[in-house]
Amino acid sequence: MIKQAVIVAGGLGSRFGDKTKLMPKGFIEIEGVPMVERSVQKLIQAGIEEIIIGTGHCSEYYDKLAEKYHVIKTVRNDNYANTSSMGTLEVCVPYIKGDFLLLESDLIYDSVGLKVLQNDSHSNVILASGKSNSHDEVYLAADENCVLLNVSKNKECIPNPAGELVGISKISKSCLDKMMEYYKSSPDLIKLDYESALCEASIHQGENVYVHKVEYYAWSEIDDESMLHRALTQIWPRIKENEEIHSIRREVLLNPGPATTSDSVKYAQVQSDICPRESEFGDLMEWCATELTRLVADPEEYTTVMFGCSGTGADEAMVSSVVPEDGKVLVIDNGSYGNRMAKMAAVHKLDFDVFESSTYEPIDLNKLEEVLKSKKYTHLVGVYHETTTGLLNPIKEICSLAKKYGLVTIFDAVSAYAGIPMDLKDIGVDFISSTSNKNIQGMAGIGFVICKKSALEATKNIPIRNFYLNLWAQYEYFQKTHQTRFTPPVQTFYALRQAIIETKVETVEKRAERYTACWKILVECVKKLGLEMLVKEENQSHLITAILEPKSPRYSFEKLHNFAKKEQFTIYPGKLGNINTFRIANIGDIQPEEMKVFCNHLETFMSVLSSGDELNLKK
Ligand SMILES: *Cc1c(COP(=O)(O)O)cnc(C)c1O
Repeated sequence: MIKQAVIVAGGLGSRFGDKTKLMPKGFIEIEGVPMVERSVQKLIQAGIEEIIIGTGHCSEYYDKLAEKYHVIKTVRNDNYANTSSMGTLEVCVPYIKGDFLLLESDLIYDSVGLKVLQNDSHSNVILASGKSNSHDEVYLAADENCVLLNVSKNKECIPNPAGELVGISKISKSCLDKMMEYYKSSPDLIKLDYESALCEASIHQGENVYVHKVEYYAWSEIDDESMLHRALTQIWPRIKENEEIHSIRREVLLNPGPATTSDSVKYAQVQSDICPRESEFGDLMEWCATELTRLVADPEEYTTVMFGCSGTGADEAMVSSVVPEDGKVLVIDNGSYGNRMAKMAAVHKLDFDVFESSTYEPIDLNKLEEVLKSKKYTHLVGVYHETTTGLLNPIKEICSLAKKYGLVTIFDAVSAYAGIPMDLKDIGVDFISSTSNKNIQGMAGIGFVICKKSALEATKNIPIRNFYLNLWAQYEYFQKTHQTRFTPPVQTFYALRQAIIETKVETVEKRAERYTACWKILVECVKKLGLEMLVKEENQSHLITAILEPKSPRYSFEKLHNFAKKEQFTIYPGKLGNINTFRIANIGDIQPEEMKVFCNHLETFMSVLSSGDELNLKK
């Protein structure tokens, strides 16, 4: 799996004249977005974890871009004026850890080219196209096995080209080393470009560099005004059309998980078959676990244990694994999920009491403390965000009370994790659960528990009362083997990896802001329509809103659901015994503009409801 990309962007771009005097060429905009930024977005969508940009001329533009995309690392080639792309690649070398993609900065291209290189089984591959008629062609010569033999701008040197150089290549670490060795072998090579070094590595250094030609590939280098014009009028429309063909019909899920996912997360599942006991897959799982931990804690002190299961599975893993035989548990129940935790405690025959509290009003912390004082509890179980109602429990206050009485703290954070910034150490929580399909915005299938390592260690001698879901066994086995004990959901892991990359790019803080922006639009609409919310605004999570059903006798949840569904919005009924609500969640890959569209539909629905007209449910 290719994890890094390098963009060589040191050049002066002098063929553009004044336009690029004060700006790098990569920042020329295509429909309002700099072409290098479009390239960065495509690389992220293709699963690249880190993008190293070798800069030079006007490097501050790239440093600024790196502030916007945390996956970018910039390295400046101070000698950019006297060197060429090898000089810029050279400054990037210390940061290149393995096989990588190498790109030029002044390209527009169809992202399928990245897939072609990622899927090619060879480790050194140059992407090539058929005739571009760009008048700036770089021709590639290759032997009958497609191994690179020569690179030249001069057609006469290459009478029967194997293709034209696009400017996107896949390069192995060993090939890079040989390219560098050659580059440094003589001061005369100071202005060497990377394609010539690749050619040298292929011909004389025993690295087979393959030319992979895609005949009608949509791409363009943009070196001057006429190329820009040609790119905008002829190439860009083709790239956009291809992207449209590959986009998946949008359904916006306003149910509380599984949440809406990006197309890149959906596509990340499509990978070569792999046995999950291969070390490559172990590395992938290990990376996921570490990054999941890092979002909320220091991986030195906390660890993530993963299972193939839903969020409830992760809850059950905690409840059934961490309480010793003589432990005594207090379970806070103020909604369906707290209630579910109590049921698990009962099934696993724990010694436990339930602290019941209103499903829509904040917990009375004084009362909770009274109870904690009254008996010798060892463990406290609670729910951070009660998805039943959208009530957010004050986890930090609850945990500090529990810690005051020496309890181990266990929280279901399934629908809070990655949607609300949190620091487990600061909160004082020992175990939290979540799942791949909520705010982390991946596919359903992986439940995980983030554990304080010392608290997890303390469970290792507890007589086992579960089998598949045992936290310690799963942790210990993974530490030893880099494997899960039983078959993991392989494709869901690839999607989770992509979802984590996208979460890191967005950041949890910004994600929480986006969710809140969606929630505000909804709340405003609900108030305007005279509908009532179950939970007071100040106690809500901003992630889901429980709305009391309209009083009109003509209302039914099914009608509203079907009306919204035909507009590609999926909503969810309420879950409280005697109070009828419908719930609108705003987690997942959704934008405020989409929430506005949904609100317009809700307004239409409500006005039809009061006017007495029939709802037109046909599309
Ligand atoms: C979604 C959710 C769960 C888990 O539900 P599954 O259907 O098992 O994934 C658990 N707790 C809370 C608070 C949730 O919102």
